[in-house]
Amino acid sequence: MIIIMLGAPGTGKGTVAELLAKGLNIPTVSSGDIFRKAIQEKTELGKQVEEYLSRGELVPDELTIKVIEARLQEPDLKDGVILDGYPRTTAQAERLDKFLEENGKKIAMAVNLETPKEELIERIVNRRICSNSECKTIFNLKLNPPKQEGICDKCGGKLIQRKDDNEEVINNRLETYFKQTKPIIDFYEKKGILYTSEVSVKINKMGKDVANEILSKFGK
Ligand code: AMP
Repeated sequence: MIIIMLGAPGTGKGTVAELLAKGLNIPTVSSGDIFRKAIQEKTELGKQVEEYLSRGELVPDELTIKVIEARLQEPDLKDGVILDGYPRTTAQAERLDKFLEENGKKIAMAVNLETPKEELIERIVNRRICSNSECKTIFNLKLNPPKQEGICDKCGGKLIQRKDDNEEVINNRLETYFKQTKPIIDFYEKKGILYTSEVSVKINKMGKDVANEILSKFGK
């Protein structure tokens, strides 16, 4: 089963993706995580993408598509994948369709998370992530704080803040989202596979509620 996650930065895509992965027993692939790991490990890819991430801009399509298509061919994804952060442009969405068609697969659901803009920045600046690359659990200092400050509840790893989770870069990332990614929502709506859900403190609905809603649609 292939599920893709759409939504502005800070809507909770990563959190919902992890919960769906657990419930459906399929792995998640986060394009952002792939790029961050490459930067951390100072690989050739890391050098190529570092500037884009630090500015909150999208990595060029050609490179992103190449990296993700290579990952999608790995054997651990044979039964499905939750794609978190990919596709993010019309070119990527069209290419993904073609790639899946060539491989006899198709997207089961495009999950679109919506959060009021004023909540997004607050959510992003308070986000903390487990630095253990095997864990990467996401916390929020206000909405979902760790039991012990700076320490991951799950594995005891050190919690860190993403470099691009600062107010200056966030504005750029949001602008990039509204300009380049939001249009692909229509693309999936027309295909009849779009599932939109609001995530907001205003309606007391969090990522875990959305994940449960989706899992029940898949009989889980
Ligand atoms: P994310 O972790 O999904 O917020 O992504 C972090 C950063 O990685 C983005 O701001 C982009 O610079 C880059 N990135 C992630 N996914 C993509 C994508 N599908 N296309 C282009 N750039 C991406």
